[in-house]
Amino acid sequence: MTQPRATDDRRGATERGYGARWQKYRVWFLRQHPLCRYCEQIGRLTAASVVDHIVPHRGDMELFWNMENHQPLCKPCHDSAKRREEATGKRPGCDVSGHPTDPNHHWNKPHG
Ligand SMILES: [Zn+2]
Repeated sequence: MTQPRATDDRRGATERGYGARWQKYRVWFLRQHPLCRYCEQIGRLTAASVVDHIVPHRGDMELFWNMENHQPLCKPCHDSAKRREEATGKRPGCDVSGHPTDPNHHWNKPHG
């Protein structure tokens, strides 16, 4: 019985919402919205695997759970969008070259 440990760093607070309830919601949401929205905009059909917050919730639970604020993205889109967003403050359309994935991003943390 290995249980994933909560992260010990400062991101713990904002990630607290990503619990079992979110995982269930995520599965449900991706079933309703199976295609990556950014890829769809450029005519590509890619299976979404991430429920992204359109407006960063930054720990705000109302924003976090607001369905209007959710969009389906594939992982490359999610990662590149977030990286650019942090760098430029705006969200790009989509230029998925398939990478890069930030190894420090919490989605990329290896198990254990
Ligand atoms: Zn995509």
